[in-house]
Amino acid sequence: MTNRILYTKPSITAVETSYAADAAANGWGARCYDYIDRFERGFRTYLGSHFAIATSSCTGAMHMGLSALGIGPGDEVILADSNWIATAAPIVHLGATPIFVDVLSDTWCIDPAEAERHITPSTKAIIATHLYGNLCDMDALLAVGQRHGIPIIEDAAEAIGSQWHGRRAGSMGLFGTFSFHGTKTLTTGEGGMLVTSDSALYERLLTLSNHGRARGQTKQFWADAIGFKYKMSNIEAAIGCAQLERIEELVARKREILYAYMVRLSSIPGISMNPEPEGTVNGAWMPTAVFHPVTEITREALIAGFAAADIDARVFFHPLSSLPMFEGKPQNVNAWSIPERAINLPSYHDMTDAEIDRVASTLVVVARAHRGDSSARLQQSA
Ligand SMILES: *Cc1c(COP(=O)(O)O)cnc(C)c1O
Repeated sequence: MTNRILYTKPSITAVETSYAADAAANGWGARCYDYIDRFERGFRTYLGSHFAIATSSCTGAMHMGLSALGIGPGDEVILADSNWIATAAPIVHLGATPIFVDVLSDTWCIDPAEAERHITPSTKAIIATHLYGNLCDMDALLAVGQRHGIPIIEDAAEAIGSQWHGRRAGSMGLFGTFSFHGTKTLTTGEGGMLVTSDSALYERLLTLSNHGRARGQTKQFWADAIGFKYKMSNIEAAIGCAQLERIEELVARKREILYAYMVRLSSIPGISMNPEPEGTVNGAWMPTAVFHPVTEITREALIAGFAAADIDARVFFHPLSSLPMFEGKPQNVNAWSIPERAINLPSYHDMTDAEIDRVASTLVVVARAHRGDSSARLQQSA
Protein backbone atom coordinates (compact mmCIF):
# COMPACT_ATOMS: atom_id res chain seq x y z
CA MET A 1 0.00 0.00 0.00
CA THR A 2 1.22 3.40 -0.91
CA ASN A 3 0.72 6.53 1.07
CA ARG A 4 0.91 8.72 -2.01
CA ILE A 5 -1.43 11.72 -2.20
CA LEU A 6 -2.76 12.09 -5.75
CA TYR A 7 -3.42 15.54 -7.15
CA THR A 8 -6.88 14.92 -8.60
CA LYS A 9 -9.33 12.08 -8.96
CA PRO A 10 -13.04 12.18 -9.70
CA SER A 11 -15.85 11.83 -7.16
CA ILE A 12 -17.92 8.88 -8.41
CA THR A 13 -20.92 7.60 -6.45
CA ALA A 14 -23.68 5.03 -7.01
CA VAL A 15 -25.63 7.69 -8.95
CA GLU A 16 -22.93 7.88 -11.65
CA THR A 17 -22.47 4.11 -11.92
CA SER A 18 -26.21 3.37 -12.03
CA TYR A 19 -26.84 5.97 -14.76
CA ALA A 20 -23.87 4.67 -16.76
CA ALA A 21 -25.09 1.08 -16.37
CA ASP A 22 -28.57 2.12 -17.50
CA ALA A 23 -27.14 3.87 -20.57
CA ALA A 24 -25.02 0.83 -21.40
CA ALA A 25 -27.97 -1.56 -20.99
CA ASN A 26 -30.81 0.49 -22.45
CA GLY A 27 -29.49 3.63 -24.13
CA TRP A 28 -29.57 2.42 -27.70
CA GLY A 29 -31.87 2.68 -30.72
CA ALA A 30 -34.66 5.18 -30.08
CA ARG A 31 -33.10 6.05 -26.69
CA CYS A 32 -29.51 6.61 -27.88
CA TYR A 33 -29.67 10.39 -27.31
CA ASP A 34 -31.70 10.43 -24.07
CA TYR A 35 -28.86 11.16 -21.65
CA ILE A 36 -27.16 13.51 -24.11
CA ASP A 37 -30.34 15.62 -24.45
CA ARG A 38 -30.85 15.58 -20.69
CA PHE A 39 -27.23 16.57 -19.96
CA GLU A 40 -27.37 19.45 -22.48
CA ARG A 41 -30.69 20.66 -21.05
CA GLY A 42 -29.46 20.46 -17.48
CA PHE A 43 -26.17 22.16 -18.30
CA ARG A 44 -27.66 25.15 -20.09
CA THR A 45 -30.14 25.60 -17.23
CA TYR A 46 -27.31 25.46 -14.67
CA LEU A 47 -25.33 28.02 -16.65
CA GLY A 48 -28.15 30.32 -17.68
CA SER A 49 -27.28 30.00 -21.38
CA HIS A 50 -29.84 29.43 -24.14
CA PHE A 51 -28.00 26.63 -25.96
CA ALA A 52 -25.54 23.83 -25.17
CA ILE A 53 -23.85 21.21 -27.34
CA ALA A 54 -22.12 18.27 -25.65
CA THR A 55 -18.76 17.37 -27.19
CA SER A 56 -16.01 14.78 -26.85
CA SER A 57 -13.68 17.39 -25.32
CA CYS A 58 -13.20 21.06 -24.55
CA THR A 59 -10.54 21.17 -27.26
CA GLY A 60 -13.13 19.97 -29.81
CA ALA A 61 -15.68 22.50 -28.55
CA MET A 62 -13.13 25.32 -28.96
CA HIS A 63 -12.15 24.07 -32.45
CA MET A 64 -15.79 24.05 -33.61
CA GLY A 65 -16.61 27.37 -31.99
CA LEU A 66 -13.66 29.19 -33.58
CA SER A 67 -14.46 27.54 -36.91
CA ALA A 68 -18.09 28.72 -36.65
CA LEU A 69 -16.74 32.28 -36.34
CA GLY A 70 -14.99 31.76 -39.68
CA ILE A 71 -11.50 32.02 -38.17
CA GLY A 72 -8.80 30.84 -40.57
CA PRO A 73 -5.44 31.63 -42.21
CA GLY A 74 -4.26 35.21 -41.72
CA ASP A 75 -6.43 35.74 -38.65
CA GLU A 76 -5.17 36.39 -35.13
CA VAL A 77 -6.68 35.24 -31.83
CA ILE A 78 -5.51 36.86 -28.58
CA LEU A 79 -5.16 34.71 -25.46
CA ALA A 80 -3.18 34.63 -22.22
CA ASP A 81 0.38 33.29 -22.33
CA SER A 82 -0.47 31.36 -19.10
CA ASN A 83 -2.70 28.69 -20.53
CA TRP A 84 -3.07 25.01 -21.24
CA ILE A 85 -1.96 24.07 -24.79
CA ALA A 86 -5.55 22.93 -25.54
CA THR A 87 -6.67 26.57 -25.80
CA ALA A 88 -4.05 27.39 -28.45
CA ALA A 89 -4.07 24.18 -30.52
CA PRO A 90 -7.45 24.79 -32.25
CA ILE A 91 -6.26 28.26 -33.35
CA VAL A 92 -3.23 26.67 -35.00
CA HIS A 93 -5.32 23.83 -36.52
CA LEU A 94 -7.48 26.48 -38.23
CA GLY A 95 -4.39 28.11 -39.74
CA ALA A 96 -4.73 31.25 -37.60
CA THR A 97 -2.08 32.75 -35.30
CA PRO A 98 -2.31 32.72 -31.48
CA ILE A 99 -1.17 36.04 -29.98
CA PHE A 100 0.06 35.44 -26.44
CA VAL A 101 -0.32 38.34 -24.00
CA ASP A 102 0.63 38.74 -20.35
CA VAL A 103 -1.53 37.93 -17.35
CA LEU A 104 -2.32 39.95 -14.23
CA SER A 105 -0.08 39.23 -11.25
CA ASP A 106 -2.99 38.66 -8.83
CA THR A 107 -5.54 36.61 -10.85
CA TRP A 108 -3.00 34.91 -13.22
CA CYS A 109 -5.62 35.57 -15.96
CA ILE A 110 -5.36 37.67 -19.14
CA ASP A 111 -4.55 41.38 -18.65
CA PRO A 112 -7.38 43.25 -20.44
CA ALA A 113 -5.13 46.26 -21.21
CA GLU A 114 -2.53 43.95 -22.78
CA ALA A 115 -5.26 42.23 -24.80
CA GLU A 116 -6.45 45.59 -26.12
CA ARG A 117 -2.89 46.73 -26.91
CA HIS A 118 -2.38 43.68 -29.16
CA ILE A 119 -5.50 44.17 -31.28
CA THR A 120 -4.72 44.54 -35.00
CA PRO A 121 -6.96 44.58 -38.10
CA SER A 122 -6.44 40.78 -38.19
CA THR A 123 -7.75 40.13 -34.66
CA LYS A 124 -10.86 37.95 -34.83
CA ALA A 125 -11.40 36.99 -31.18
CA ILE A 126 -10.06 37.27 -27.62
CA ILE A 127 -10.15 34.14 -25.47
CA ALA A 128 -10.67 34.61 -21.73
CA THR A 129 -9.38 31.54 -19.88
CA HIS A 130 -10.49 31.44 -16.24
CA LEU A 131 -7.30 29.88 -14.92
CA TYR A 132 -7.57 27.36 -12.06
CA GLY A 133 -11.11 28.66 -11.33
CA ASN A 134 -9.93 32.30 -11.00
CA LEU A 135 -12.02 34.73 -13.02
CA CYS A 136 -10.86 36.99 -15.82
CA ASP A 137 -11.95 40.62 -15.46
CA MET A 138 -15.01 40.12 -17.67
CA ASP A 139 -16.29 43.72 -17.38
CA ALA A 140 -13.01 45.05 -18.77
CA LEU A 141 -12.73 42.37 -21.46
CA LEU A 142 -16.32 42.74 -22.66
CA ALA A 143 -15.76 46.52 -22.84
CA VAL A 144 -12.61 45.96 -24.96
CA GLY A 145 -14.59 43.64 -27.22
CA GLN A 146 -17.38 46.19 -27.57
CA ARG A 147 -14.98 49.06 -28.37
CA HIS A 148 -13.33 47.08 -31.16
CA GLY A 149 -16.19 44.87 -32.39
CA ILE A 150 -14.30 41.71 -31.42
CA PRO A 151 -16.00 38.73 -29.75
CA ILE A 152 -14.88 37.61 -26.28
CA ILE A 153 -14.84 33.82 -25.91
CA GLU A 154 -14.57 32.04 -22.58
CA ASP A 155 -12.48 28.94 -21.97
CA ALA A 156 -14.26 27.88 -18.78
CA ALA A 157 -12.71 24.39 -18.70
CA GLU A 158 -11.37 25.10 -15.21
CA ALA A 159 -14.16 27.35 -13.99
CA ILE A 160 -17.36 25.41 -13.48
CA GLY A 161 -18.89 26.90 -10.32
CA SER A 162 -17.10 30.25 -10.72
CA GLN A 163 -19.27 33.37 -10.87
CA TRP A 164 -18.64 36.95 -11.95
CA HIS A 165 -21.12 39.34 -10.30
CA GLY A 166 -23.95 36.83 -10.45
CA ARG A 167 -23.16 35.43 -13.92
CA ARG A 168 -21.60 32.03 -14.33
CA ALA A 169 -18.19 31.61 -15.98
CA GLY A 170 -18.74 30.47 -19.56
CA SER A 171 -22.08 32.26 -19.97
CA MET A 172 -20.79 35.80 -20.58
CA GLY A 173 -18.83 35.55 -23.83
CA LEU A 174 -20.17 34.95 -27.35
CA PHE A 175 -19.61 31.30 -26.53
CA GLY A 176 -18.01 29.35 -23.70
CA THR A 177 -16.32 25.96 -23.56
CA PHE A 178 -16.05 23.41 -20.74
CA SER A 179 -14.02 20.26 -20.12
CA PHE A 180 -15.17 17.10 -18.35
CA HIS A 181 -11.78 15.42 -18.46
CA GLY A 182 -11.10 13.12 -15.50
CA THR A 183 -9.11 15.82 -13.71
CA LYS A 184 -11.88 18.44 -13.82
CA THR A 185 -14.47 19.27 -11.12
CA LEU A 186 -17.29 17.64 -13.14
CA THR A 187 -16.13 14.64 -15.14
CA THR A 188 -17.45 12.26 -17.78
CA GLY A 189 -14.02 10.65 -18.32
CA GLU A 190 -13.44 12.62 -21.50
CA GLY A 191 -15.95 15.20 -22.65
CA GLY A 192 -16.81 18.84 -23.07
CA MET A 193 -19.57 21.36 -23.71
CA LEU A 194 -20.04 24.42 -25.87
CA VAL A 195 -22.58 26.96 -24.62
CA THR A 196 -23.92 30.09 -26.27
CA SER A 197 -26.98 32.32 -26.17
CA ASP A 198 -26.56 33.46 -29.81
CA SER A 199 -29.16 31.63 -31.92
CA ALA A 200 -27.49 32.28 -35.31
CA LEU A 201 -24.16 30.96 -34.00
CA TYR A 202 -25.97 27.97 -32.48
CA GLU A 203 -27.54 27.06 -35.86
CA ARG A 204 -24.10 27.17 -37.53
CA LEU A 205 -22.66 25.07 -34.70
CA LEU A 206 -25.42 22.46 -34.92
CA THR A 207 -24.61 21.94 -38.60
CA LEU A 208 -20.84 21.92 -38.02
CA SER A 209 -21.16 19.49 -35.10
CA ASN A 210 -23.15 17.03 -37.21
CA HIS A 211 -20.63 16.55 -40.04
CA GLY A 212 -22.04 19.55 -41.88
CA ARG A 213 -25.56 18.13 -42.04
CA ALA A 214 -28.05 20.96 -41.49
CA ARG A 215 -31.00 20.57 -39.16
CA GLY A 216 -34.09 20.08 -41.32
CA GLN A 217 -32.15 18.61 -44.24
CA THR A 218 -34.43 15.80 -45.45
CA LYS A 219 -31.98 14.13 -47.85
CA GLN A 220 -30.26 11.20 -46.10
CA PHE A 221 -26.45 11.22 -45.77
CA TRP A 222 -26.39 14.73 -47.25
CA ALA A 223 -23.76 17.19 -45.98
CA ASP A 224 -23.97 20.88 -46.82
CA ALA A 225 -20.51 21.70 -45.47
CA ILE A 226 -17.39 20.06 -44.10
CA GLY A 227 -18.05 19.78 -40.39
CA PHE A 228 -16.71 18.03 -37.32
CA LYS A 229 -17.34 14.83 -35.40
CA TYR A 230 -16.72 15.79 -31.78
CA LYS A 231 -19.76 14.18 -30.18
CA MET A 232 -20.23 12.94 -26.64
CA SER A 233 -21.52 9.39 -26.22
CA ASN A 234 -24.76 8.62 -24.38
CA ILE A 235 -22.84 6.65 -21.74
CA GLU A 236 -20.53 9.59 -21.00
CA ALA A 237 -23.57 11.89 -20.87
CA ALA A 238 -25.20 9.54 -18.33
CA ILE A 239 -22.22 10.05 -16.01
CA GLY A 240 -22.47 13.78 -16.73
CA CYS A 241 -26.16 13.84 -15.71
CA ALA A 242 -25.28 12.27 -12.37
CA GLN A 243 -22.38 14.68 -11.80
CA LEU A 244 -24.61 17.64 -12.69
CA GLU A 245 -27.16 16.55 -10.06
CA ARG A 246 -24.26 16.74 -7.58
CA ILE A 247 -22.70 19.94 -8.95
CA GLU A 248 -23.36 22.13 -5.90
CA GLU A 249 -21.75 19.49 -3.67
CA LEU A 250 -18.80 19.01 -6.07
CA VAL A 251 -18.03 22.74 -6.23
CA ALA A 252 -18.62 23.27 -2.49
CA ARG A 253 -16.06 20.58 -1.64
CA LYS A 254 -13.47 22.14 -3.99
CA ARG A 255 -14.01 25.49 -2.28
CA GLU A 256 -13.76 23.88 1.13
CA ILE A 257 -10.38 22.34 0.25
CA LEU A 258 -9.03 25.66 -1.08
CA TYR A 259 -10.19 27.39 2.12
CA ALA A 260 -8.65 24.65 4.29
CA TYR A 261 -5.29 25.27 2.58
CA MET A 262 -5.62 29.05 3.00
CA VAL A 263 -6.21 28.68 6.73
CA ARG A 264 -3.19 26.39 7.11
CA LEU A 265 -0.85 28.39 4.86
CA SER A 266 -1.76 31.99 5.64
CA SER A 267 1.14 32.37 8.06
CA ILE A 268 3.75 31.71 5.36
CA PRO A 269 5.31 35.08 4.42
CA GLY A 270 4.96 36.02 0.73
CA ILE A 271 2.42 33.33 -0.26
CA SER A 272 -0.67 34.06 -2.34
CA MET A 273 -3.38 31.65 -3.43
CA ASN A 274 -6.41 31.72 -5.78
CA PRO A 275 -8.08 35.12 -5.28
CA GLU A 276 -11.80 35.74 -4.85
CA PRO A 277 -12.41 39.47 -5.39
CA GLU A 278 -15.57 41.17 -4.12
CA GLY A 279 -18.62 40.11 -6.14
CA THR A 280 -17.09 36.88 -7.45
CA VAL A 281 -17.18 33.21 -6.53
CA ASN A 282 -14.08 31.12 -7.23
CA GLY A 283 -14.98 27.55 -8.26
CA ALA A 284 -11.57 26.56 -6.85
CA TRP A 285 -10.76 23.87 -9.39
CA MET A 286 -7.04 23.91 -8.59
CA PRO A 287 -5.65 25.32 -5.33
CA THR A 288 -2.41 27.00 -6.31
CA ALA A 289 0.29 28.65 -4.23
CA VAL A 290 2.41 31.43 -5.73
CA PHE A 291 5.35 32.86 -3.80
CA HIS A 292 6.59 36.44 -3.90
CA PRO A 293 9.96 36.66 -5.72
CA VAL A 294 11.75 37.93 -2.59
CA THR A 295 11.01 34.63 -0.81
CA GLU A 296 13.38 32.99 -3.31
CA ILE A 297 11.20 29.87 -3.13
CA THR A 298 11.56 28.11 -6.48
CA ARG A 299 9.45 25.64 -8.40
CA GLU A 300 12.34 23.19 -8.19
CA ALA A 301 12.49 23.40 -4.39
CA LEU A 302 8.71 22.91 -4.23
CA ILE A 303 8.79 19.90 -6.57
CA ALA A 304 11.62 18.33 -4.59
CA GLY A 305 9.83 18.91 -1.28
CA PHE A 306 6.60 17.31 -2.48
CA ALA A 307 8.37 14.42 -4.20
CA ALA A 308 10.17 13.63 -0.91
CA ALA A 309 6.80 13.64 0.89
CA ASP A 310 5.22 11.38 -1.79
CA ILE A 311 2.70 14.04 -2.78
CA ASP A 312 1.65 14.54 -6.40
CA ALA A 313 1.84 18.34 -6.67
CA ARG A 314 2.04 19.84 -10.17
CA VAL A 315 3.84 22.75 -11.82
CA PHE A 316 2.02 25.94 -12.85
CA PHE A 317 1.42 26.09 -16.64
CA HIS A 318 4.55 27.01 -18.57
CA PRO A 319 4.01 30.13 -20.68
CA LEU A 320 2.82 28.84 -24.07
CA SER A 321 5.26 31.20 -25.82
CA SER A 322 8.12 29.27 -24.16
CA LEU A 323 7.16 26.04 -25.99
CA PRO A 324 9.27 25.04 -28.99
CA MET A 325 6.41 25.56 -31.50
CA PHE A 326 6.14 29.26 -30.72
CA GLU A 327 8.33 32.36 -30.60
CA GLY A 328 9.36 33.22 -27.03
CA LYS A 329 7.76 36.31 -25.47
CA PRO A 330 9.64 36.78 -22.16
CA GLN A 331 8.30 40.36 -22.16
CA ASN A 332 5.14 38.69 -20.77
CA VAL A 333 6.86 39.03 -17.41
CA ASN A 334 4.10 37.70 -15.16
CA ALA A 335 3.37 34.67 -17.35
CA TRP A 336 7.10 33.88 -17.44
CA SER A 337 7.85 34.59 -13.79
CA ILE A 338 4.89 33.12 -11.85
CA PRO A 339 5.48 29.46 -12.88
CA GLU A 340 9.05 29.71 -11.55
CA ARG A 341 7.73 30.21 -7.99
CA ALA A 342 4.39 28.38 -7.92
CA ILE A 343 2.83 24.96 -7.38
CA ASN A 344 -0.63 23.30 -7.83
CA LEU A 345 -1.79 21.46 -4.71
CA PRO A 346 -3.80 18.20 -4.57
CA SER A 347 -7.56 18.78 -4.30
CA TYR A 348 -9.64 15.66 -4.95
CA HIS A 349 -13.05 15.60 -3.32
CA ASP A 350 -12.52 12.82 -0.77
CA MET A 351 -9.21 14.13 0.58
CA THR A 352 -9.08 13.72 4.35
CA ASP A 353 -8.15 16.49 6.78
CA ALA A 354 -5.01 14.50 7.59
CA GLU A 355 -4.03 14.56 3.89
CA ILE A 356 -4.68 18.30 3.65
CA ASP A 357 -2.55 18.75 6.80
CA ARG A 358 0.24 16.69 5.24
CA VAL A 359 0.27 18.77 2.05
CA ALA A 360 0.15 22.02 4.01
CA SER A 361 2.92 21.07 6.41
CA THR A 362 5.12 20.01 3.48
CA LEU A 363 4.71 23.47 2.04
CA VAL A 364 5.43 25.08 5.42
CA VAL A 365 8.67 23.07 5.70
CA VAL A 366 9.84 24.12 2.21
CA ALA A 367 9.00 27.74 2.98
CA ARG A 368 10.79 27.62 6.35
CA ALA A 369 13.94 26.27 4.68
CA HIS A 370 13.94 29.44 2.54
CA ARG A 371 13.00 31.78 5.34
CA GLY A 372 16.40 33.42 5.77
CA ASP A 373 15.83 37.14 5.85
CA SER A 374 12.89 37.03 3.44
CA SER A 375 10.55 38.53 6.04
CA ALA A 376 12.78 41.59 6.15
CA ARG A 377 13.00 41.67 2.36
CA LEU A 378 9.21 41.40 2.10
CA GLN A 379 8.78 44.33 4.47
CA GLN A 380 11.21 46.39 2.44
CA SER A 381 9.44 45.61 -0.83
CA ALA A 382 5.95 46.29 0.61
C1 LIG B 1 -8.58 20.85 -19.45
C2 LIG B 1 -8.49 22.12 -20.25
C3 LIG B 1 -8.78 22.16 -21.63
C4 LIG B 1 -8.95 20.93 -22.45
O1 LIG B 1 -9.99 20.12 -22.13
P1 LIG B 1 -10.15 18.73 -22.88
O2 LIG B 1 -11.52 18.31 -22.50
O3 LIG B 1 -9.07 17.85 -22.35
O4 LIG B 1 -10.01 18.98 -24.33
C5 LIG B 1 -8.81 23.37 -22.27
N1 LIG B 1 -8.52 24.51 -21.64
C6 LIG B 1 -8.21 24.53 -20.33
C7 LIG B 1 -7.92 25.83 -19.69
C8 LIG B 1 -8.15 23.33 -19.61
O5 LIG B 1 -7.81 23.33 -18.32
